[in-house]
Amino acid sequence: MTHAFVEQIMGTVEVRNPGEPEFHQAVREVAESVAGVIDQRPELARLRVFERLVEPERQILFRVPWTDDAGQVQVNRGFRVEFNSALGPYKGGLRFHPSVYLGIVKFLGFEQIFKNALTTTPIGGSKGGSDFDPKGKSNMEVMRFCQSFMSELFRHIGPDTDVPAGDIGVGTREIGYLFGQYKKLSNTFTGVLTGKGLDWGGSHIRTEATGYGLVYIVTRALADRGTDWAGKRVVISGSGNVAIYATQKAQQLGAMVVTLSDSDGYIVDEDGIDLDTVRQIKEVRRGRIREYVDARPGATYIEDGDSIWSVPCDVALPSATQNELDDVAARTLIANGCIAVGEGANMPSTPDAVDLFIDACVSFIPGKAANAGGVATSALEMSQNSLRFQWTFDDVDRRLQGIMNAVYDQCTAAADAYGAPGDLAAGANIAGFLKVANAMIDQGVV
Ligand code: NDP
Repeated sequence: MTHAFVEQIMGTVEVRNPGEPEFHQAVREVAESVAGVIDQRPELARLRVFERLVEPERQILFRVPWTDDAGQVQVNRGFRVEFNSALGPYKGGLRFHPSVYLGIVKFLGFEQIFKNALTTTPIGGSKGGSDFDPKGKSNMEVMRFCQSFMSELFRHIGPDTDVPAGDIGVGTREIGYLFGQYKKLSNTFTGVLTGKGLDWGGSHIRTEATGYGLVYIVTRALADRGTDWAGKRVVISGSGNVAIYATQKAQQLGAMVVTLSDSDGYIVDEDGIDLDTVRQIKEVRRGRIREYVDARPGATYIEDGDSIWSVPCDVALPSATQNELDDVAARTLIANGCIAVGEGANMPSTPDAVDLFIDACVSFIPGKAANAGGVATSALEMSQNSLRFQWTFDDVDRRLQGIMNAVYDQCTAAADAYGAPGDLAAGANIAGFLKVANAMIDQGVV
Protein backbone atom coordinates (compact mmCIF):
# COMPACT_ATOMS: atom_id res chain seq x y z
CA MET A 1 0.00 0.00 0.00
CA THR A 2 2.65 2.42 1.13
CA HIS A 3 5.04 1.35 -1.58
CA ALA A 4 2.28 1.69 -4.22
CA PHE A 5 1.68 5.31 -3.15
CA VAL A 6 5.36 6.20 -3.51
CA GLU A 7 5.66 4.52 -6.92
CA GLN A 8 2.48 6.15 -8.17
CA ILE A 9 3.69 9.61 -7.08
CA MET A 10 7.14 9.04 -8.54
CA GLY A 11 5.70 7.77 -11.82
CA THR A 12 3.85 11.06 -12.29
CA VAL A 13 6.68 13.26 -11.02
CA GLU A 14 9.25 11.61 -13.29
CA VAL A 15 7.06 11.90 -16.40
CA ARG A 16 6.11 15.50 -15.68
CA ASN A 17 9.63 16.61 -14.73
CA PRO A 18 12.00 14.68 -17.02
CA GLY A 19 15.76 15.04 -16.59
CA GLU A 20 15.57 16.46 -13.07
CA PRO A 21 17.14 13.73 -10.87
CA GLU A 22 17.76 15.96 -7.85
CA PHE A 23 14.08 16.93 -7.76
CA HIS A 24 13.02 13.28 -8.08
CA GLN A 25 15.39 12.36 -5.22
CA ALA A 26 13.97 15.07 -2.95
CA VAL A 27 10.35 14.11 -3.67
CA ARG A 28 10.98 10.37 -3.20
CA GLU A 29 12.63 10.98 0.16
CA VAL A 30 9.64 12.90 1.48
CA ALA A 31 7.08 10.55 -0.14
CA GLU A 32 8.68 7.53 1.55
CA SER A 33 8.51 9.27 4.94
CA VAL A 34 4.89 10.43 4.68
CA ALA A 35 3.31 7.46 2.89
CA GLY A 36 2.38 5.87 6.25
CA VAL A 37 0.87 9.16 7.46
CA ILE A 38 -1.28 9.40 4.35
CA ASP A 39 -2.48 5.82 5.00
CA GLN A 40 -3.69 6.95 8.43
CA ARG A 41 -5.36 10.17 7.22
CA PRO A 42 -7.62 9.28 4.25
CA GLU A 43 -8.59 12.93 3.62
CA LEU A 44 -4.97 13.61 2.62
CA ALA A 45 -5.30 11.07 -0.19
CA ARG A 46 -8.87 12.13 -1.10
CA LEU A 47 -7.85 15.79 -1.41
CA ARG A 48 -4.66 14.80 -3.26
CA VAL A 49 -2.57 16.97 -0.97
CA PHE A 50 0.77 15.38 -1.86
CA GLU A 51 -0.05 15.43 -5.58
CA ARG A 52 -0.68 19.19 -5.25
CA LEU A 53 2.45 19.71 -3.15
CA VAL A 54 4.82 18.32 -5.79
CA GLU A 55 3.51 20.76 -8.40
CA PRO A 56 4.96 24.28 -7.92
CA GLU A 57 2.34 27.00 -7.68
CA ARG A 58 4.32 29.05 -10.19
CA GLN A 59 7.59 28.67 -12.15
CA ILE A 60 9.30 31.68 -13.67
CA LEU A 61 12.11 31.32 -16.26
CA PHE A 62 13.74 34.32 -17.79
CA ARG A 63 16.63 35.63 -19.87
CA VAL A 64 19.38 37.56 -18.09
CA PRO A 65 21.51 39.50 -20.61
CA TRP A 66 24.43 41.57 -19.32
CA THR A 67 27.66 43.13 -20.55
CA ASP A 68 31.07 41.99 -19.28
CA ASP A 69 34.08 44.25 -18.66
CA ALA A 70 35.37 43.60 -22.19
CA GLY A 71 32.12 44.95 -23.63
CA GLN A 72 30.90 41.51 -24.70
CA VAL A 73 27.22 40.65 -24.26
CA GLN A 74 26.64 37.58 -22.07
CA VAL A 75 23.39 35.65 -21.66
CA ASN A 76 22.39 33.64 -18.58
CA ARG A 77 19.19 32.03 -17.40
CA GLY A 78 17.18 33.14 -14.39
CA PHE A 79 14.78 30.99 -12.37
CA ARG A 80 12.28 31.50 -9.57
CA VAL A 81 10.08 28.60 -8.50
CA GLU A 82 7.33 29.72 -6.13
CA PHE A 83 6.49 26.34 -4.71
CA ASN A 84 3.99 26.67 -1.91
CA SER A 85 2.35 29.58 -0.09
CA ALA A 86 0.11 27.70 2.37
CA LEU A 87 1.97 29.05 5.43
CA GLY A 88 2.99 32.52 4.26
CA PRO A 89 4.74 34.49 1.52
CA TYR A 90 7.12 32.43 -0.61
CA LYS A 91 10.58 32.43 0.96
CA GLY A 92 13.85 30.88 -0.17
CA GLY A 93 17.31 31.72 -1.44
CA LEU A 94 18.85 32.54 -4.79
CA ARG A 95 21.75 30.39 -5.99
CA PHE A 96 24.26 31.67 -8.58
CA HIS A 97 26.35 28.72 -9.76
CA PRO A 98 27.03 27.20 -13.20
CA SER A 99 25.33 23.95 -12.13
CA VAL A 100 21.95 25.69 -11.63
CA TYR A 101 19.12 24.50 -13.88
CA LEU A 102 15.40 24.10 -13.30
CA GLY A 103 15.77 20.69 -11.58
CA ILE A 104 18.17 22.06 -8.94
CA VAL A 105 15.89 25.00 -8.24
CA LYS A 106 12.88 22.68 -7.92
CA PHE A 107 14.66 20.30 -5.54
CA LEU A 108 15.72 23.21 -3.37
CA GLY A 109 12.28 24.84 -3.50
CA PHE A 110 10.57 21.58 -2.57
CA GLU A 111 12.89 21.06 0.43
CA GLN A 112 12.32 24.66 1.41
CA ILE A 113 8.57 24.10 1.94
CA PHE A 114 9.14 21.63 4.77
CA LYS A 115 12.16 23.41 6.23
CA ASN A 116 10.24 26.67 6.46
CA ALA A 117 7.31 24.90 8.08
CA LEU A 118 9.65 23.50 10.75
CA THR A 119 10.96 26.97 11.67
CA THR A 120 7.58 27.81 13.28
CA THR A 121 7.64 31.13 11.37
CA PRO A 122 4.91 32.07 8.83
CA ILE A 123 6.65 31.54 5.48
CA GLY A 124 5.97 29.50 2.35
CA GLY A 125 8.61 27.83 0.19
CA SER A 126 10.42 28.95 -2.97
CA LYS A 127 13.89 29.02 -4.52
CA GLY A 128 15.59 30.70 -7.43
CA GLY A 129 18.88 31.46 -9.06
CA SER A 130 20.91 31.47 -12.21
CA ASP A 131 23.62 29.55 -14.02
CA PHE A 132 25.77 32.70 -13.69
CA ASP A 133 29.15 32.06 -12.00
CA PRO A 134 30.26 34.98 -9.80
CA LYS A 135 33.72 33.39 -9.37
CA GLY A 136 36.38 35.40 -11.18
CA LYS A 137 33.99 38.21 -12.11
CA SER A 138 34.69 41.84 -11.20
CA ASN A 139 32.40 43.71 -8.81
CA MET A 140 31.05 45.72 -11.76
CA GLU A 141 30.25 42.55 -13.71
CA VAL A 142 28.45 41.07 -10.70
CA MET A 143 26.55 44.34 -10.30
CA ARG A 144 25.46 44.48 -13.95
CA PHE A 145 24.36 40.86 -13.80
CA CYS A 146 22.38 41.40 -10.58
CA GLN A 147 20.69 44.49 -12.01
CA SER A 148 19.63 42.60 -15.13
CA PHE A 149 18.42 39.64 -13.05
CA MET A 150 16.31 41.91 -10.85
CA SER A 151 14.95 43.83 -13.84
CA GLU A 152 12.80 40.77 -14.53
CA LEU A 153 12.46 39.27 -11.04
CA PHE A 154 11.10 42.47 -9.45
CA ARG A 155 7.66 42.07 -11.04
CA HIS A 156 7.20 38.66 -9.37
CA ILE A 157 8.33 39.37 -5.79
CA GLY A 158 7.34 41.66 -2.91
CA PRO A 159 7.43 41.79 0.89
CA ASP A 160 4.04 40.05 1.14
CA THR A 161 4.45 37.88 -1.97
CA ASP A 162 7.91 36.36 -2.29
CA VAL A 163 11.04 37.32 -0.33
CA PRO A 164 14.32 35.91 -1.75
CA ALA A 165 17.60 35.59 0.17
CA GLY A 166 21.12 34.31 -0.52
CA ASP A 167 22.45 30.80 -1.14
CA ILE A 168 25.56 29.49 -2.92
CA GLY A 169 27.21 32.39 -4.75
CA VAL A 170 24.83 35.01 -3.34
CA GLY A 171 26.14 36.87 -0.30
CA THR A 172 25.80 40.41 1.06
CA ARG A 173 27.41 41.93 -2.05
CA GLU A 174 24.90 40.33 -4.42
CA ILE A 175 21.93 41.01 -2.11
CA GLY A 176 23.03 44.68 -2.06
CA TYR A 177 23.06 45.00 -5.86
CA LEU A 178 19.74 43.12 -6.15
CA PHE A 179 18.12 45.27 -3.45
CA GLY A 180 19.36 48.51 -5.01
CA GLN A 181 17.82 47.61 -8.36
CA TYR A 182 14.53 46.50 -6.77
CA LYS A 183 14.34 49.80 -4.88
CA LYS A 184 14.97 51.79 -8.04
CA LEU A 185 12.39 49.92 -10.11
CA SER A 186 9.66 49.80 -7.47
CA ASN A 187 10.35 53.15 -5.80
CA THR A 188 9.88 51.46 -2.41
CA PHE A 189 12.22 50.62 0.46
CA THR A 190 10.75 47.37 1.75
CA GLY A 191 11.85 44.07 3.22
CA VAL A 192 11.73 42.37 -0.18
CA LEU A 193 15.04 40.55 0.26
CA THR A 194 16.72 39.19 3.37
CA GLY A 195 20.42 39.04 4.10
CA LYS A 196 20.61 42.82 3.73
CA GLY A 197 23.44 44.88 5.21
CA LEU A 198 23.06 45.74 8.90
CA ASP A 199 22.75 49.47 8.18
CA TRP A 200 20.01 49.13 5.56
CA GLY A 201 17.42 46.73 6.91
CA GLY A 202 19.46 43.64 7.71
CA SER A 203 19.24 41.59 10.89
CA HIS A 204 21.97 40.78 13.36
CA ILE A 205 23.01 37.10 13.16
CA ARG A 206 21.61 36.60 9.60
CA THR A 207 25.17 36.14 8.30
CA GLU A 208 26.02 33.64 11.03
CA ALA A 209 22.58 32.05 11.32
CA THR A 210 22.83 28.90 9.21
CA GLY A 211 26.18 27.84 10.65
CA TYR A 212 25.25 28.79 14.22
CA GLY A 213 21.84 27.11 13.92
CA LEU A 214 23.51 23.95 12.63
CA VAL A 215 25.77 23.81 15.68
CA TYR A 216 22.86 24.59 18.05
CA ILE A 217 20.76 21.71 16.75
CA VAL A 218 23.68 19.25 16.80
CA THR A 219 24.20 20.33 20.42
CA ARG A 220 20.76 18.84 21.13
CA ALA A 221 21.65 15.57 19.41
CA LEU A 222 24.92 15.37 21.35
CA ALA A 223 23.07 16.09 24.62
CA ASP A 224 20.69 13.21 23.86
CA ARG A 225 23.79 11.02 23.69
CA GLY A 226 24.97 12.43 27.03
CA THR A 227 27.80 14.49 25.57
CA ASP A 228 28.67 17.94 24.18
CA TRP A 229 31.10 19.68 21.82
CA ALA A 230 34.05 19.89 24.24
CA GLY A 231 37.08 18.18 22.68
CA LYS A 232 35.14 16.79 19.70
CA ARG A 233 37.00 16.47 16.38
CA VAL A 234 34.88 17.95 13.62
CA VAL A 235 35.10 17.59 9.84
CA ILE A 236 33.34 20.36 7.88
CA SER A 237 33.12 20.56 4.08
CA GLY A 238 32.77 23.80 2.14
CA SER A 239 34.33 27.11 3.09
CA GLY A 240 31.45 29.46 2.39
CA ASN A 241 28.94 31.15 4.61
CA VAL A 242 27.59 28.01 6.31
CA ALA A 243 30.97 26.32 6.82
CA ILE A 244 32.68 29.42 8.21
CA TYR A 245 30.07 30.20 10.87
CA ALA A 246 29.58 26.55 11.82
CA THR A 247 33.34 26.45 12.41
CA GLN A 248 33.19 29.60 14.52
CA LYS A 249 30.36 28.39 16.77
CA ALA A 250 31.74 24.83 17.13
CA GLN A 251 35.11 26.29 18.16
CA GLN A 252 33.43 28.64 20.66
CA LEU A 253 31.82 25.56 22.23
CA GLY A 254 35.16 23.80 22.59
CA ALA A 255 35.32 21.62 19.46
CA MET A 256 38.38 21.14 17.25
CA VAL A 257 37.45 21.71 13.57
CA VAL A 258 40.17 20.12 11.43
CA THR A 259 38.99 20.49 7.80
CA LEU A 260 37.36 22.87 5.32
CA SER A 261 37.08 22.54 1.53
CA ASP A 262 36.02 24.03 -1.76
CA SER A 263 35.26 22.39 -5.08
CA ASP A 264 39.00 21.97 -5.82
CA GLY A 265 40.14 20.23 -2.62
CA TYR A 266 40.34 20.36 1.16
CA ILE A 267 42.66 21.42 3.97
CA VAL A 268 43.51 19.52 7.15
CA ASP A 269 44.86 21.45 10.12
CA GLU A 270 45.52 19.17 13.08
CA ASP A 271 45.97 22.25 15.29
CA GLY A 272 42.43 23.35 14.50
CA ILE A 273 41.31 25.60 11.65
CA ASP A 274 42.46 29.20 12.07
CA LEU A 275 39.28 31.06 11.16
CA ASP A 276 40.91 34.48 10.75
CA THR A 277 43.07 33.06 7.97
CA VAL A 278 40.07 31.43 6.29
CA ARG A 279 37.97 34.61 6.46
CA GLN A 280 40.81 36.66 5.03
CA ILE A 281 41.04 34.26 2.08
CA LYS A 282 37.32 33.67 1.46
CA GLU A 283 35.59 36.86 2.59
CA VAL A 284 38.22 39.52 1.84
CA ARG A 285 40.33 38.17 -1.05
CA ARG A 286 37.64 35.83 -2.45
CA GLY A 287 40.45 33.31 -2.94
CA ARG A 288 40.69 29.48 -2.86
CA ILE A 289 41.01 27.29 0.23
CA ARG A 290 44.40 25.97 -0.98
CA GLU A 291 45.87 29.38 -0.05
CA TYR A 292 45.38 28.46 3.65
CA VAL A 293 48.60 26.41 3.73
CA ASP A 294 50.64 29.46 2.68
CA ALA A 295 49.72 31.10 6.00
CA ARG A 296 49.64 27.87 8.04
CA PRO A 297 52.53 25.67 6.82
CA GLY A 298 51.66 22.96 9.39
CA ALA A 299 48.40 22.31 7.54
CA THR A 300 48.03 20.16 4.43
CA TYR A 301 46.02 20.65 1.24
CA ILE A 302 44.60 17.64 -0.60
CA GLU A 303 43.38 18.15 -4.13
CA ASP A 304 40.52 15.65 -4.08
CA GLY A 305 37.34 16.84 -2.45
CA ASP A 306 35.82 13.34 -2.18
CA SER A 307 38.24 11.98 0.41
CA ILE A 308 37.50 14.65 3.02
CA TRP A 309 35.20 12.14 4.76
CA SER A 310 38.15 9.80 5.36
CA VAL A 311 39.58 12.28 7.89
CA PRO A 312 38.65 10.73 11.27
CA CYS A 313 36.15 12.73 13.31
CA ASP A 314 33.47 12.59 15.99
CA VAL A 315 31.09 14.94 14.17
CA ALA A 316 30.69 15.60 10.44
CA LEU A 317 28.99 18.73 9.09
CA PRO A 318 28.66 18.53 5.27
CA SER A 319 28.18 22.19 4.31
CA ALA A 320 29.08 22.49 0.61
CA THR A 321 26.52 21.07 -1.81
CA GLN A 322 24.02 18.33 -2.70
CA ASN A 323 25.08 14.65 -2.85
CA GLU A 324 28.63 15.36 -1.64
CA LEU A 325 28.57 12.48 0.89
CA ASP A 326 27.81 9.03 -0.55
CA ASP A 327 27.53 5.50 0.88
CA VAL A 328 31.30 4.91 0.66
CA ALA A 329 31.93 8.10 2.63
CA ALA A 330 29.22 7.18 5.14
CA ARG A 331 30.79 3.74 5.74
CA THR A 332 34.18 5.39 6.30
CA LEU A 333 32.75 7.92 8.76
CA ILE A 334 30.97 5.16 10.71
CA ALA A 335 34.08 2.96 10.76
CA ASN A 336 36.10 5.90 12.09
CA GLY A 337 33.71 6.36 15.02
CA CYS A 338 31.68 9.39 13.89
CA ILE A 339 28.69 9.78 16.24
CA ALA A 340 26.78 12.69 14.69
CA VAL A 341 26.16 14.13 11.22
CA GLY A 342 24.44 17.49 10.81
CA GLU A 343 23.67 18.60 7.26
CA GLY A 344 24.65 22.26 6.77
CA ALA A 345 24.07 21.98 3.03
CA ASN A 346 20.82 20.97 1.35
CA MET A 347 20.63 17.20 0.68
CA PRO A 348 24.42 16.66 0.93
CA SER A 349 24.04 12.98 1.87
CA THR A 350 22.82 10.49 -0.72
CA PRO A 351 19.81 8.33 0.28
CA ASP A 352 22.11 5.30 0.80
CA ALA A 353 24.33 7.33 3.11
CA VAL A 354 21.33 8.45 5.17
CA ASP A 355 20.14 4.83 5.55
CA LEU A 356 23.62 3.77 6.72
CA PHE A 357 23.77 6.53 9.34
CA ILE A 358 20.35 5.65 10.72
CA ASP A 359 21.09 1.89 10.77
CA ALA A 360 24.37 2.58 12.61
CA CYS A 361 22.61 4.80 15.22
CA VAL A 362 24.66 7.83 14.18
CA SER A 363 22.70 10.94 15.23
CA PHE A 364 21.69 12.20 11.79
CA ILE A 365 20.03 15.61 11.37
CA PRO A 366 18.78 16.25 7.82
CA GLY A 367 19.37 19.58 6.09
CA LYS A 368 15.78 20.68 6.23
CA ALA A 369 16.07 20.71 10.02
CA ALA A 370 19.80 21.31 10.53
CA ASN A 371 20.21 24.31 8.24
CA ALA A 372 16.82 25.89 8.99
CA GLY A 373 18.48 28.58 11.12
CA GLY A 374 19.28 30.65 8.02
CA VAL A 375 15.76 30.98 6.74
CA ALA A 376 14.40 31.27 10.30
CA THR A 377 16.60 34.31 10.86
CA SER A 378 15.49 35.63 7.47
CA ALA A 379 11.93 35.41 8.82
CA LEU A 380 13.11 37.35 11.88
CA GLU A 381 14.59 39.92 9.49
CA MET A 382 11.16 40.20 7.82
CA SER A 383 9.55 40.75 11.23
CA GLN A 384 12.04 43.49 12.07
CA ASN A 385 11.46 45.14 8.67
CA SER A 386 7.70 45.14 9.31
CA LEU A 387 8.28 46.67 12.74
CA ARG A 388 10.85 49.10 11.28
CA PHE A 389 13.05 48.15 14.21
CA GLN A 390 16.30 46.23 14.74
CA TRP A 391 16.71 43.73 17.55
CA THR A 392 20.13 43.30 19.20
CA PHE A 393 22.60 40.54 18.41
CA ASP A 394 21.75 38.78 21.67
CA ASP A 395 17.98 39.09 21.04
CA VAL A 396 18.22 37.44 17.63
CA ASP A 397 20.68 34.81 18.85
CA ARG A 398 18.30 33.86 21.66
CA ARG A 399 15.37 33.59 19.22
CA LEU A 400 17.50 31.51 16.85
CA GLN A 401 18.39 29.09 19.65
CA GLY A 402 14.71 28.85 20.58
CA ILE A 403 13.76 28.08 16.99
CA MET A 404 16.46 25.40 16.57
CA ASN A 405 15.25 23.77 19.78
CA ALA A 406 11.68 23.84 18.42
CA VAL A 407 12.83 22.31 15.13
CA TYR A 408 14.60 19.50 16.97
CA ASP A 409 11.62 18.86 19.26
CA GLN A 410 9.16 18.70 16.35
CA CYS A 411 11.36 16.25 14.44
CA THR A 412 11.87 13.93 17.40
CA ALA A 413 8.18 14.08 18.39
CA ALA A 414 6.99 13.26 14.85
CA ALA A 415 9.53 10.43 14.55
CA ASP A 416 8.29 8.97 17.86
CA ALA A 417 4.60 9.44 17.00
CA TYR A 418 4.85 7.73 13.62
CA GLY A 419 6.91 4.71 14.62
CA ALA A 420 10.40 5.84 13.64
CA PRO A 421 12.03 6.85 16.96
CA GLY A 422 15.48 8.36 16.44
CA ASP A 423 14.95 8.78 12.68
CA LEU A 424 15.06 12.56 12.35
CA ALA A 425 15.05 12.39 8.56
CA ALA A 426 11.57 10.84 8.72
CA GLY A 427 10.58 13.09 11.65
CA ALA A 428 11.50 16.30 9.77
CA ASN A 429 9.57 15.22 6.68
CA ILE A 430 6.48 14.19 8.63
CA ALA A 431 6.35 17.25 10.92
CA GLY A 432 6.91 19.67 8.03
CA PHE A 433 4.45 17.87 5.76
CA LEU A 434 1.64 17.76 8.33
CA LYS A 435 1.85 21.47 9.03
CA VAL A 436 1.69 22.39 5.34
CA ALA A 437 -0.90 19.72 4.52
CA ASN A 438 -3.27 20.90 7.27
CA ALA A 439 -3.01 24.50 6.03
CA MET A 440 -3.67 23.38 2.45
CA ILE A 441 -6.79 21.51 3.55
CA ASP A 442 -8.01 24.56 5.51
CA GLN A 443 -7.52 26.80 2.47
CA GLY A 444 -9.39 24.59 0.00
CA VAL A 445 -8.40 23.38 -3.46
CA VAL A 446 -6.50 26.38 -4.81
P1 NDP B 1 28.71 29.69 -0.36
O1 NDP B 1 28.62 30.09 -1.80
O2 NDP B 1 29.03 30.71 0.65
O3 NDP B 1 29.78 28.51 -0.21
C1 NDP B 1 29.61 27.29 -0.87
C2 NDP B 1 30.77 26.41 -0.53
O4 NDP B 1 30.52 25.10 -1.04
C3 NDP B 1 32.06 26.89 -1.20
O5 NDP B 1 33.14 26.50 -0.41
C4 NDP B 1 32.04 26.12 -2.50
O6 NDP B 1 33.29 25.93 -3.10
C5 NDP B 1 31.47 24.79 -2.06
N1 NDP B 1 30.82 24.16 -3.21
C6 NDP B 1 29.80 24.66 -3.95
N2 NDP B 1 29.49 23.83 -4.95
C7 NDP B 1 30.33 22.79 -4.83
C8 NDP B 1 30.49 21.60 -5.54
N3 NDP B 1 29.73 21.31 -6.62
N4 NDP B 1 31.43 20.74 -5.11
C9 NDP B 1 32.21 21.01 -4.03
N5 NDP B 1 32.09 22.13 -3.31
C10 NDP B 1 31.18 23.01 -3.71
O7 NDP B 1 27.34 28.95 -0.04
P2 NDP B 1 26.66 28.66 1.37
O8 NDP B 1 27.69 28.39 2.39
O9 NDP B 1 25.67 29.70 1.57
O10 NDP B 1 25.86 27.32 1.04
C11 NDP B 1 26.39 26.01 1.27
C12 NDP B 1 25.26 25.02 1.35
O11 NDP B 1 24.39 25.39 2.42
C13 NDP B 1 24.36 24.94 0.11
O12 NDP B 1 23.90 23.61 -0.04
C14 NDP B 1 23.19 25.84 0.49
O13 NDP B 1 22.02 25.51 -0.23
C15 NDP B 1 23.06 25.51 1.96
N6 NDP B 1 22.35 26.49 2.74
C16 NDP B 1 22.78 27.80 2.83
C17 NDP B 1 22.10 28.70 3.61
C18 NDP B 1 22.59 30.09 3.83
O14 NDP B 1 21.99 30.79 4.66
N7 NDP B 1 23.65 30.54 3.18
C19 NDP B 1 20.84 28.34 4.28
C20 NDP B 1 20.50 26.94 4.18
C21 NDP B 1 21.23 26.09 3.41
P3 NDP B 1 33.65 26.70 -4.47
O15 NDP B 1 34.03 28.09 -4.04
O16 NDP B 1 34.76 25.93 -5.05
O17 NDP B 1 32.42 26.68 -5.33
